[in-house]
Amino acid sequence: MMDDLEFLIQLQEIDLRIREQELSQEQFPAAVAELENSIKKAGEVVESTTAKLQKMEAERATFEEQIQKAHESLGKSQERLNSIKTNREYDAVHTEIETYKNMINSAETRRKNLQGEIEKLKGSVDESIKEYEKIKGENEPKIAELKEKIGAIDSQISKIMKEREQVSPKVSKHLLRTYDQIRKKRKTGRVLSLISDNHTCAVCFKVLEPQLYNEIKRGTKLHICESCGSILVWAQAANKEQQV
Ligand SMILES: [Zn+2]
Repeated sequence: MMDDLEFLIQLQEIDLRIREQELSQEQFPAAVAELENSIKKAGEVVESTTAKLQKMEAERATFEEQIQKAHESLGKSQERLNSIKTNREYDAVHTEIETYKNMINSAETRRKNLQGEIEKLKGSVDESIKEYEKIKGENEPKIAELKEKIGAIDSQISKIMKEREQVSPKVSKHLLRTYDQIRKKRKTGRVLSLISDNHTCAVCFKVLEPQLYNEIKRGTKLHICESCGSILVWAQAANKEQQV
């Protein structure tokens, strides 16, 4: 039995934990940016809907001003009716009055339509604020958590590295060299294929020949999966007491 297989399995577990931290280091900042971006986008919807509403309210104020002015002019024209002397004057003032009345009517209609749109838009503004608050409420704790994790990654890695320094000298140099060579080439960091009763490589699922399987189980020499290149190790080597 190769005595160091147990430690090799420990080393693999340690390295996978390091790899996990490294992956987090790569992926967490992007996740934070995505969460922050969705808050920003929801905020922009609030801003643009509010701006639209303000524009419409300003337009409504303009119509209201027009209506008021037309009413004032109408009042003056109606007063002038009392001091009219000629038919020509009378016709002219009547035309004025008609003009002002028409102006008031059309401005009233437009103001009314605008009022309807303003009410609808107010609903949209309320909705967009609710949506913004919801996204913010959901994302901010996640962002804080991720940022905390990002901040802790380096110290996590150095902590795990210390564990590695404890275990790696217990693995023979030859085995360690083979293991490290394969590990450097693998994105996942997984080098060992832990073999159990199902007679297949745990990494690529190739079925193992009975003789090979028995040799792996005995753990007397190093075997590499000819299909995926993983080091084949009997899974229970991790816990010697389970071995018969
Ligand atoms: Zn394999």
